[in-house]
Amino acid sequence: MLNYRFLLQYILVLKLFKGIEIKMTKPVVDFGECSGCGVCVDICPNEVYEFDGDICIPVRTNDCDGCEQCVDECTMECIELKG
Ligand code: SF4
Ligand code: SF4
Repeated sequence: MLNYRFLLQYILVLKLFKGIEIKMTKPVVDFGECSGCGVCVDICPNEVYEFDGDICIPVRTNDCDGCEQCVDECTMECIELKG
């Protein structure tokens, strides 16, 4: 016999997981274009970027939450989010 209570719980759990969106984006810099202005270092809320000589590198890409602030504010438009 079909257990309707179990079925209902199963559907609720499925709905719950469907509502969870996991962002797996990572910033990628075109280093040939980067001017080293440091805007990305200053603006990133998760401190993903670090200075490295004349350029800035996304060193903690796993901390990126995909907010796109660096992409929007990059002075050379050389940051892309991938993933
Ligand atoms: S998308 Fe947001 S969190 Fe990710 S590197 Fe850019 S500013 Fe930081
Ligand atoms: S904001 Fe853009 S140009 Fe400026 S350091 Fe970051 S990646 Fe380079």
